[in-house]
Amino acid sequence: MHMHPIRSAKMAVVGCGLMGSALARAFASAGHDVAVWNRTPGKASAVGGGTRAFDSLVEAVSGRELVVVSLSNYAAAAEVLSERGVAAALTGTTLVQLTSGSPADAREGLAWAQAHGVDYLDAAILAYPSFVATEYATVYYAGARGIFDRHVETLQAIAKNSVYVDEKIGAAATLDCAILEAYYGGSLAFLHAAAMCKAEGLDPKALFAQKNSFLGLISVTADAAQDMIEKNGFSGDQCSLNTHVAAIEHIVRLSQDARISARFPKELLDNYKRAVSAGLGDQELPAVFRTLTQD
Ligand code: NAP
Repeated sequence: MHMHPIRSAKMAVVGCGLMGSALARAFASAGHDVAVWNRTPGKASAVGGGTRAFDSLVEAVSGRELVVVSLSNYAAAAEVLSERGVAAALTGTTLVQLTSGSPADAREGLAWAQAHGVDYLDAAILAYPSFVATEYATVYYAGARGIFDRHVETLQAIAKNSVYVDEKIGAAATLDCAILEAYYGGSLAFLHAAAMCKAEGLDPKALFAQKNSFLGLISVTADAAQDMIEKNGFSGDQCSLNTHVAAIEHIVRLSQDARISARFPKELLDNYKRAVSAGLGDQELPAVFRTLTQD
């Protein structure tokens, strides 16, 4: 669907990797005037979709009200932004840092921007490139609310679901890391689970057919955990940590007997057992949280 923005923004996308290219095309297809730049120039000219490729970064960002950066990491961004003339060309514009990083990276980014008179938002995108501009894309933003409000309409071209998280500049990166941990951890868990099935001669299809069972369990536990963390009370009458530990021991044993990697279930066991050792054995599963807030 072609969207017609109320106002066409003059903007630039710095970095035309898989994500940057998708972002640039989405902005352009929403009607914005999009300059693109990439270290390897061929990728910038390949973006297409009505974007305009520049060989010079200074020329790409000059006179643009909004500059979106999507590079591999903050070290790459720092390198690019320190190129001669770039900081001066960005003065007075808004820089949206869409490169994934840690909260500390975001704080350094803000310090750099403030030192150069650049308005700054730190952002994190929760989407694969093919999700950009669809309902499956979410982008989290942190920084001054006023800067976000000024650009949100333009930014919605990449994700209608543009979420302002907090004024604290590290907030978007924090939330991104938190969601990604649940994603990567959960994904590793079901991949190991599929490996257990296969090793025991059970078609992994049987596991995936039960997807809603384990996702449902996680969902219910997340709700319970939220409540318990808020109240700092973890007792209940559903299932003690002692009982959960016994279940995890079966997972470790299955893995060892079937001669597949037992690393992941052992790490799980280690974490849950630590909570039992801390005297929380008769409390509910989310009590593990109490042992994770220290080193
Ligand atoms: P990518 O395809 O590997 O692209 C990386 C980009 O960074 C390229 O434009 C590359 O330029 C540039 N780059 C790397 N080092 C550089 C340097 N020292 N100086 C200048 N440019 C440099 O990665 P991507 O998937 O687009 O990811 C970009 C960002 O989006 C990352 O922070 C990633 O975590 C985030 N992200 C990606 C996804 C995803 O699904 N792909 C999802 C969420 C978030 P060259 O072309 O010259 O190498």
